[in-house]
Amino acid sequence: MPELPEVETVKNVLIPIVKDRKILKIDVSRSSTIEGDVKEFISNLQGQTFLNVTRIGKYLIFHLSNALVMLSHLRMEGKYYELEESDSNSKYARVVFHLDNGHKLCYDDSRCFGILKLSNEQDYLKEEMIAKLGPEPFVINNVKSILKKVKNIKKPIKTTLLDQTLMTGLGNIYVDETLFASKIHPLTPANKITEKQWLSIVDNAKKILSLAIESGGSTIKSYHPGKDIDGNFQTRLKVYGKSGEMCPECKTHQFRFIKVGGRGTTFCPHCQRKVGVPLNVAITGKIASGKSTATEAFKSHDIATLSSDEIVKELYLKEEVSNKIEKAFNLRFKDKQVDKDVLRNYLLTHPKDKRKLERIVHPLVEKEIKNFLSSSKSPIRVVEVPLLFESNLDRYFDDIIVIDVSIDKQDELISNRDKAKALYLKEINKTNKIDENILKATYVIKNDGTKTAFINKINKIITELESLAK
Ligand SMILES: [Zn+2]
Repeated sequence: MPELPEVETVKNVLIPIVKDRKILKIDVSRSSTIEGDVKEFISNLQGQTFLNVTRIGKYLIFHLSNALVMLSHLRMEGKYYELEESDSNSKYARVVFHLDNGHKLCYDDSRCFGILKLSNEQDYLKEEMIAKLGPEPFVINNVKSILKKVKNIKKPIKTTLLDQTLMTGLGNIYVDETLFASKIHPLTPANKITEKQWLSIVDNAKKILSLAIESGGSTIKSYHPGKDIDGNFQTRLKVYGKSGEMCPECKTHQFRFIKVGGRGTTFCPHCQRKVGVPLNVAITGKIASGKSTATEAFKSHDIATLSSDEIVKELYLKEEVSNKIEKAFNLRFKDKQVDKDVLRNYLLTHPKDKRKLERIVHPLVEKEIKNFLSSSKSPIRVVEVPLLFESNLDRYFDDIIVIDVSIDKQDELISNRDKAKALYLKEINKTNKIDENILKATYVIKNDGTKTAFINKINKIITELESLAK
């Protein structure tokens, strides 16, 4: 989807194509592209001359003779093509403007989300879609009025910026870039953003958008008729689309991917710490690494905790779950509940069925975790999830704590447990994806000394989290 800099480039490419050109004829092949009456659109614009093209936010404003204005929003796939009259139209041409120089301008839109709307010089700024747009960062010099407007907005800062009413110009890509440059977690509630941070957001938005507009300049130089004009050049991105890559700022953590208001979002778990409540924290680590000890430490600070292992235990007591698993693996359990020994022995001889079991159990665990996170009143919520990355549950958490343990220490901890389970546990550890995701954790704690030393490390993290959850 084109963002402000791309639309600016489209505008700059369009000006020399349409300026002072008269529209001889208009063909509309898809009427829903035109907002308003199609006949009126055609009859009003035919015979008029394009005077100029300007831009407000992501709207292109075509100014025409007779004080008419055509508003254009490209949305997902909208683009313009300049073609010779003798050329066939572009593939998804929805509206074609035949010009007086033997050229035609095709408005092309494969997905048909874009719109064209007729207005006039007197009213177009009052059109609802234009009137609701906030100022572009380029014209914002102080943030006092923004601070006032967001005083009661608890929505995430990313959602608030995408809304365009506070400030216009940051879409999904450049909002991630701006928040990364400003070291702000995209889920931070808007009313927790300080004046200094707002100044940083505005300043970085100016720099990032200007740089993007500047690199769009090369599009203009390389433009030739017949080429689509969608202004796409999104280069020099630092964070967007780079989940799993090393953060170039801290050089110690990998970018994480989450959803914010349904939009894919990338951020650095170290450089962009979430501030405000609630703070959702996941504890993960291999088997017998000390996860439960860590979870207990949180609990002793009156922090709400939940253990995925406990959820599974509860699920296994349910008849419906037991039935499902019996059926899936052709097993027989007694007492209408899952017999964990029977299941474990089965999986030891049928390791490939572990995935199948996960497909049954993970969605149920996910549901419980979501319920817990949405209903808990605790400012900090901690969930222990052994298979956090495998089950893609990491996206629900603001912070991740990985408990890391050496193989020797782990062997020692496992052998303290039920001997019959040890083999199975070691088998599970082999498929654990923690090692390849460990740099996505906010914290990695080594459990390699005494229990007291380990708990001290956890307590230090608790203090830090409590200072952020305000
Ligand atoms: Zn970083």
